[in-house]
Amino acid sequence: MIAAAPPVLDQGCASVPVLRERGQREVFCGLTGIVWLHRKMPDAFFLVVGSRTCAHLLQSAAGVMIFAEPRFATAIIEERDLAGLADANEELDRVVRRLLARRPEIRTLFLVGSCPSEVIKLDLARAAQRLAGAFLPDVRIVNYSGSGIETTFTQGEDACLAALVPFMPEPAVGAEPELLIVGALPDIVEDQLLRLVRDLGIARVSCLPARESRELPAVGPNTRFLLAQPFLGDTAQALEDRGAVHLSAPFPFGAEGTTDWLHAAARAFDIDEMHFRSVVAPGRERAKRALEHSRAQLEGKSIFFLPDSQLELPLARFLHRELGMVPVEVGTPYLHRAHMAPELAQLPETTVISEGQDVDRQLDRVRASRPDITVCGLGLANPLEAEGFTTKWAIELVFSPIHGFDQAGDLAELFARPIRRRDVLRV
Ligand code: SF4
Repeated sequence: MIAAAPPVLDQGCASVPVLRERGQREVFCGLTGIVWLHRKMPDAFFLVVGSRTCAHLLQSAAGVMIFAEPRFATAIIEERDLAGLADANEELDRVVRRLLARRPEIRTLFLVGSCPSEVIKLDLARAAQRLAGAFLPDVRIVNYSGSGIETTFTQGEDACLAALVPFMPEPAVGAEPELLIVGALPDIVEDQLLRLVRDLGIARVSCLPARESRELPAVGPNTRFLLAQPFLGDTAQALEDRGAVHLSAPFPFGAEGTTDWLHAAARAFDIDEMHFRSVVAPGRERAKRALEHSRAQLEGKSIFFLPDSQLELPLARFLHRELGMVPVEVGTPYLHRAHMAPELAQLPETTVISEGQDVDRQLDRVRASRPDITVCGLGLANPLEAEGFTTKWAIELVFSPIHGFDQAGDLAELFARPIRRRDVLRV
């Protein structure tokens, strides 16, 4: 039976007290988002204004393709800049001029701030304005911060997309309602979701980010938007400031999550309920069958999410509702109550919801509850494995295609595989 009504928002964990942690954090910074964003926008270039540490992070996270022109780089802030002996703005302008002369195919240049650029208070917003004067209309210059000061790594995408919103054009007067899907998805997944949306009968649909960075969709009071990623609070706010209306829904993970997400669009666009059901039924059944493969490994197993990617709450809901897992604690770096309401309502009341990080105390709680699997950052996984815990790297969930009906089985397998491996090693 296909869900016919929006989730009831005052159930489950909706009103349980949230444990707020404000201690030491173990997360990557927002520069990490460049790894997937540069693939999503092939005509854009990401120039990080940062230190050698930033350059190392990017190179090790994204790899360096020696046979291709990379579409990201770091303008290194040297000691002379830090000491105020050189004019960092002049040096930045020089680097940008050289880059754009050498790479005429670049249509959008992102100037990405970092911890060092923020420490020396290099005003990249002003630099972007200054450079735009020289390079528009050929190249659009956009700035955002990917710094690790008070951020977690998925906030890089949020900052990038929020920075694009002011460049989205106004819709025509009296424009028809349009659907906007917000969040970077692998092209193949985006195509699957777009096909479903169009099959529902919603013809006017577009995505942010757009594959051609300059072809941004219009936004205004006629825009209804669905978040595809749960870490886009600032982008959502920027869209709402332009009059767009957020469609509240669970995130599109698993058979139920994807159905409910599409259902929110169908309701907003007055799609006939029977038609909705007939469009989603094949994908939903495929997803349910694919999940069966992992169910034996996951049903009844306990899971502990340390705060890392901001995907924690939707994934915990998916694993609990569709595979019978028991979420002991679900930590998230930031809790957006409104965006997470449909997720919280579907988690059991016994689950501890925590926001922020105090890594030592959280590790103590992992040790005390001895979960079957712990989802955590790279730096915590090996020490926990050494203590006999089974772990899953949170960042792998961001880099893998996991949204939509056709990825539901693979998503479940990402959790089932480490448990299966543990069981085999134990025998
Ligand atoms: S932005 Fe900050 S946290 Fe990220 S690599 Fe650079 S110095 Fe490190």
